[in-house]
Amino acid sequence: MSENSADCLFCKIAAGDIPGDIVYEDDQFIAFNDINPQAPVHILIIPKRHIATVNDVDGEAEVVGSLAARAFKLAKKQGIDQSGYRILMNCNQEGGQTVYHIHMHLLGGKQLGFLG
Ligand code: AMP
Ligand code: ZN
Repeated sequence: MSENSADCLFCKIAAGDIPGDIVYEDDQFIAFNDINPQAPVHILIIPKRHIATVNDVDGEAEVVGSLAARAFKLAKKQGIDQSGYRILMNCNQEGGQTVYHIHMHLLGGKQLGFLG
């Protein structure tokens, strides 16, 4: 289910080995535009450190809060904080996870339906 970091697409983007449309970066986190956007704003925020799924955060659940904090700032920067937006994280197959390096989706810029 979980690939290791050597095979991980998002580790490669974080390392600069694969180009990403980067909109934010700090020492521990990076954010880039989704390659297949589901809304006018569709940004993925990831920790640079490889964590395969939210099941694997173990005692470090605060990493999810750190992702959210960056999502909230990006929402403001994108001008969608007042109109509204959604943050979400998918876990494993039935949750719709396709890239096994945790990421928070930030979606906005249109009226979102319940699941899209
Ligand atoms: P998830 O289904 O929650 O695992 O989300 C994975 C997301 O990664 C999808 O929305 C994809 O469109 C996106 N994605 C896949 N490859 C890339 C890439 N090279 N650059 C940016 N986003 C990507
Ligand atoms: Zn990774």
